[in-house]
Amino acid sequence: MQNTPLKLRIAHLYPDLLNIYGDFGNVLTLQKRAQWRDIEVEVVKITAGSVINSDDFDLFFAGGGQDNQQIIAANELIKNGAELLKAAHNNKPMLAICGAYQLFGKYYLTAERHKLKGISILDVHTLAGKNRFIGNVTAIADFLPVRTIVGFENHSGLTYLGETAKPLFKIKVGKGNNGLDKTEGARYRNVFGTYLHGPILPKNPHFCDYLLQLALNTKYKCKIPLLPLDDSVEYYAHEARICAKY
Ligand code: GLN
Repeated sequence: MQNTPLKLRIAHLYPDLLNIYGDFGNVLTLQKRAQWRDIEVEVVKITAGSVINSDDFDLFFAGGGQDNQQIIAANELIKNGAELLKAAHNNKPMLAICGAYQLFGKYYLTAERHKLKGISILDVHTLAGKNRFIGNVTAIADFLPVRTIVGFENHSGLTYLGETAKPLFKIKVGKGNNGLDKTEGARYRNVFGTYLHGPILPKNPHFCDYLLQLALNTKYKCKIPLLPLDDSVEYYAHEARICAKY
């Protein structure tokens, strides 16, 4: 460990527009799991009209939102799109949930036929479907030490992966991106888009720590070990949510 305290700055993108189904809990989880390891954390809320300098941040988070809020958020994201793309190319971790996931893609065509341009970090596009996908999800993450991921989905958008997109998880129970191809979410470098609320990170501490580790690796340009925590309560919640059918 270094002598100077480790510090992470988290940008919480548009929490006033994109924060449904408790997605704010993801930011709290990132913050607490870092602080429990004596890593200082500053969370900065990025609100409409803010100009982002990506050099100021080590990790980016954006939550889900309804279509009406997404229209405003889409415009705001586009204004900072180049800066967010730069951060993605610099391997900074980003987690975008549901409505934000759709806006990190190429476009989202809403049920009212609004075509919301995305920031195209992820090679995906989304079309409003006729039905909502609502329910608990169990998925598999090949890149994590604990491979199960649990979450809750609630979306009518159907997301399709482009040629260069990699799925984030494989669906075991639930609908995922589009209900057809068993993919859930998408990944580009260290940018993660997923439909999973829950919120996802408290119930999947292995995914939270993966993001923290990426943020530290990228910032400090070396692998800083994350001290183990007592995750018995977190994994009790995780196990309880693994869908019985799986
Ligand atoms: N409005 C989007 C949809 O229904 C996203 C909803 C959400 O973020 N949960 O597909």
